[in-house]
Amino acid sequence: MTTHRTAPILVIGNGPAAHQVLDRLRHFGCEDPVTVLGAEDTPAYHRALLTSALDGSLPVEAMELPPPPGDTTILTGVCAVRIDRLRRRVHTADGDVFPYARLILATGATPLLPDLPGLRTPDGSPAAGVAVLRTLADCARLTDPAVVAARTPVTILGAGSLGVEAAFALALKNRPVTLVHPRPWPMDHLLDAAAGALVRDRLTAAGVELVAGSPATAYTPATEGAPGTLALADGTALPAHTLLLCTGVLPETGLARTAGLAVRTGIVVDDRMRTDDPLIHALGDCAEHRGNRGGSLASGWAQAEALARHLASGARGVAPARRVLRPRIAGPGLVVLGMPGRAPSDETITLNDPANGRYARLELTGEHITAGVLLGFDRAIATTTELYVHDAPVPRDRLSLLLGRAPRLARAGSEEITPETVICLCNNVTHQDLTRAWHAGAQGLAELADATRATTGCGGCARQVESLCTSLASSTPATTGS
Ligand SMILES: Cc1cc2nc3c(=O)[nH]c(=O)nc-3n(C[C@H](O)[C@H](O)[C@H](O)COP(=O)(O)OP(=O)(O)OC[C@H]3O[C@@H](n4cnc5c(N)ncnc54)[C@H](O)[C@@H]3O)c2cc1C
Repeated sequence: MTTHRTAPILVIGNGPAAHQVLDRLRHFGCEDPVTVLGAEDTPAYHRALLTSALDGSLPVEAMELPPPPGDTTILTGVCAVRIDRLRRRVHTADGDVFPYARLILATGATPLLPDLPGLRTPDGSPAAGVAVLRTLADCARLTDPAVVAARTPVTILGAGSLGVEAAFALALKNRPVTLVHPRPWPMDHLLDAAAGALVRDRLTAAGVELVAGSPATAYTPATEGAPGTLALADGTALPAHTLLLCTGVLPETGLARTAGLAVRTGIVVDDRMRTDDPLIHALGDCAEHRGNRGGSLASGWAQAEALARHLASGARGVAPARRVLRPRIAGPGLVVLGMPGRAPSDETITLNDPANGRYARLELTGEHITAGVLLGFDRAIATTTELYVHDAPVPRDRLSLLLGRAPRLARAGSEEITPETVICLCNNVTHQDLTRAWHAGAQGLAELADATRATTGCGGCARQVESLCTSLASSTPATTGS
């Protein structure tokens, strides 16, 4: 057993929320040494890009987040198992002890296994053939060259945004995919029937078989030579060589709970991201702030900002996070702003154009977007998302907004990109910022992420940044570096 020196700030978890708080701490002038304990044996990476690793469009290295600035020690493959609040110490699975002055919990979330007969072995772990997608290790199992080469079919349970993304990614890798969903259309918690039908059509066009409308009732695990079987309430029995569960996540609260901290669904925190122990904070997917579980990068970012400000200067307050979801699906883009259909609004604009595979719904209160869905309106996605994220008023001519013709607004259509076009909406990085960084030597995806922070938010811009790299490389004379 090794007892380490007291860390002024000790962080448990090395995911995107931990990474963001380290960055913001330095930004706000906190120079305290920080030690991070991460259970995964990799550097911090952008979890939201996992499906791009699944379909092979992004090398794993490109998902890595840049090394945090300042005096930071990152220990990977180290799992914290107990917090001793009395002595202010954290114990790890290896028997090491890390005393702390201040502790930050950024333990994230873990996949939720539904209560379905047959899914678990008697010790509670997933049964044979059952897979999840939360970590690079999960992704590596699903992309094992042997199963990819054998085109082993995958049955995905749950057509929320993760299930839909995973289905497109696996289909792109030529894997036979069946997507099973208990409700009549995919992503029904965010999309209405019209938008859901368009996503269903896209899935079908990509070769995914969608089995919707009947809940799963039981799983019979695979045995040697025979695939598992997923039974549905309507009597269907689906073969399931690999059963990929995309059935939600649960905040990882075990450490906090056993340390006696207040936990409801997540670890309860106040506006300073403090738990009921003033020396312990929590943020990201593991935290519950004002009754809300985060579950998105936007909420983790807002919490990291609030916590870093508090630790650096004692300031208080969490800016409300504006949730933007950009599921990576084949074809023209999809964006979901906030939670459409949940709260009353003054005005709803709907444009349904199934013949062209397009759908838009914007909910407005006053002149501001409170929620929305855009599918197939690529030129409008950047402007509309930007207006929503910044809570800016929309133009009077709503149709021009949807058609991407709104004046003085950035556009996402490839021919109409201007230097001011915001490419990374999460970090407000423009085309010009990226071009300048590229010319200054950041000539790859990881380097541009490092220099500008583009792609380190929701990751929805990664492909756009990658193609910008390609086009800059082909249009620039080979003088740099020579
Ligand atoms: C495929 C996929 C796509 C997604 N797409 C989007 C998207 O488009 N937009 C969006 O907003 N969100 C998306 N998300 C969700 C987003 O990735 C999460 O909100 C984000 O990762 C939360 O960050 P976090 O750091 O709080 O938690 P996590 O990313 O879960 O990281 C927590 C880390 O803590 C470690 N840890 C846990 N317990 C311990 C311990 N005891 N000791 C040491 N380490 C520990 C874990 O191993 C993990 O590495 C997506 C998620 C997935 C899986």
